[in-house]
Amino acid sequence: MLPFFIKKALFYTYWKGRMKLLGCIFCRMASHEMPAKIIYEDDQCLVLQDINPQAPVHLLVIPRKHISSLNDACEEDAALLGHMLMVVGRMAREHGIDGSGYRTVINTNAEAGQTVFHLHIHVLGGRLLGWPPG
Ligand code: AMP
Ligand code: ZN
Repeated sequence: MLPFFIKKALFYTYWKGRMKLLGCIFCRMASHEMPAKIIYEDDQCLVLQDINPQAPVHLLVIPRKHISSLNDACEEDAALLGHMLMVVGRMAREHGIDGSGYRTVINTNAEAGQTVFHLHIHVLGGRLLGWPPG
């Protein structure tokens, strides 16, 4: 029997490979090649409702540019990342969670539970969110 952490690493490697073979779903959504519930878009990013919401409001702010994770963002992406944060604020206001509060999350790699390897910012709100996160 393999130890849990080895199983986890093997599954992670398999999952990353599988995602690569299928192509990046967020790139396909951004180019409208794949249907998606896009609630906002501009020349730099788009916003989707998460398909598996973890809170009454659960949005994903996604750059049009393919950046696999925060580890892969470079200096030239600074303005894009700043723009995405401005869009987070706008979405929070439009969804009425700016006053009550919301959380922004960027999961990076295995131990944070990243499953889609195209950078995205989760925006969660509409309920009391526990801290520390699980
Ligand atoms: P992460 O685990 O941080 O990489 O987040 C990926 C998120 O994308 C998860 O919360 C998924 O529920 C969400 N997701 C995966 N596929 C879709 C899809 N087709 N439309 C909307 N959200 C999706
Ligand atoms: Zn992509």
